[in-house]
Amino acid sequence: MIHMENVNKYFGDHHVLQNVSLDIEEGEKVVIIGPSGSGKSTLIRCMNRLEDISSGTARVNGFDLTDKKVPILKVRQKVAMVFQNFNLYSHKTILENVILAPINVLKVKKEDAIKTGMEYLKKVGIEDKANAYPSQLSGGQQQRVAIARALNMHPEVILFDEPTSALDPETIQEVLDVMTKLSELNITMVVVTHEMGFARRVADRVIFMDQGTIVEQGPPEEFFTQTQNQRAKDFLSKII
Ligand code: ADP
Ligand code: MG
Repeated sequence: MIHMENVNKYFGDHHVLQNVSLDIEEGEKVVIIGPSGSGKSTLIRCMNRLEDISSGTARVNGFDLTDKKVPILKVRQKVAMVFQNFNLYSHKTILENVILAPINVLKVKKEDAIKTGMEYLKKVGIEDKANAYPSQLSGGQQQRVAIARALNMHPEVILFDEPTSALDPETIQEVLDVMTKLSELNITMVVVTHEMGFARRVADRVIFMDQGTIVEQGPPEEFFTQTQNQRAKDFLSKII
């Protein structure tokens, strides 16, 4: 589903991704961890071309992301992103947030977008808030809406960039529970998070990044017990 080979990314002369190679299978659940500034967000933003790569190969769901003619809206439909700060439209209702892109981008009929949108709001446990505005919801509820909005684009891949980092402690678990439920579907998930309980339960693979490179990776049961790399060990000892 995702093939990256020798990917480099520069911001000016800052070499933020350094020869990153990574293959992710259809349906795989991958958790990416690592210190702040190690390039985690940049890496996943390169997976739906929110960022262009500077050199290397990047193919996602059959799209060559280095091709300037790649249909960018189609890429973003297939490869959805859930952000730390939800990014809901504050002046639109919850349901409007969830149906807007399917109608405008996918040209889905409004009644169909509402039908599937309500199903996804139900799936994330928030259908009773369909006519509320984002400011009337808690952070955890808003993030669950953002997940329903991503699902209503019928993506193949969902990228999560620290989806619980901006939440109050008591609402983190409700979002992790929704993401765990989501992991039972065949959608490919790439999740940047420091929630190690979630990584243990859900991830097929944990990737540790440091200074723009993938330093170590493996299935969680190995990763958490047999980490070889000293920087990964130090990082884990601080967050677990
Ligand atoms: P992480 O998500 O692991 O904290 P990021 O991918 O956000 O790391 O950032 C990696 C490095 O790239 C950091 O040094 C950051 O300051 C830099 N960076 C990220 N985005 C930009 C940008 N748009 N312009 C310039 N530098 C950036
Ligand atoms: Mg980040």
